Amino acid sequence: MEKPISGVMIYYYIVCKRKLWYFYNQIQMEEDNDNVQIGKVIDENSYKREEKHINIDDIISIDYIKDKGILHEVKKSKKIEEAGIMQVKYYLYYLKQKGVADIRGKVDYPLLKQSIDIDLTDEDVKYIEAIIIDLKEIVNKQLPPPLEKKRICKKCAYFELCYI
Ligand code: SF4
Repeated sequence: MEKPISGVMIYYYIVCKRKLWYFYNQIQMEEDNDNVQIGKVIDENSYKREEKHINIDDIISIDYIKDKGILHEVKKSKKIEEAGIMQVKYYLYYLKQKGVADIRGKVDYPLLKQSIDIDLTDEDVKYIEAIIIDLKEIVNKQLPPPLEKKRICKKCAYFELCYI
């Protein structure tokens, strides 16, 4: 059965399509990875006062919503900045499909004390719809996409799986 597309899948689509394939096909190794653990500690400690992890339809998991109509995604670093931005744009896109249009987004980098404002443009909508088509094609293949060595591989939870 085809699974709904989550924000994390959009994030992985940009980061690494092989990682996306593993994740979609339920090969999950994230819990053991130190890098992910660091992310969780940041997540738990950075914004204690806000309401956190708002789940919508089990498809999007917003880190928190502060003020009226601004949803926030918390990231550890700006290394894969585009992926974090597209994840939030996808949240805005998904909410727009559900009739929630008057909402904006922010990607927060607590370690850098920075944040980026995110809006959804008509161009973004076209881009997201193209991503969704391509993403479905990738995850429904029998095998993951070939390994493409990247700088992020060393810190990826699937490193051992890819480089054995
Ligand atoms: S180790 Fe590299 S190629 Fe393999 S899933 Fe992770 S990022 Fe992708």
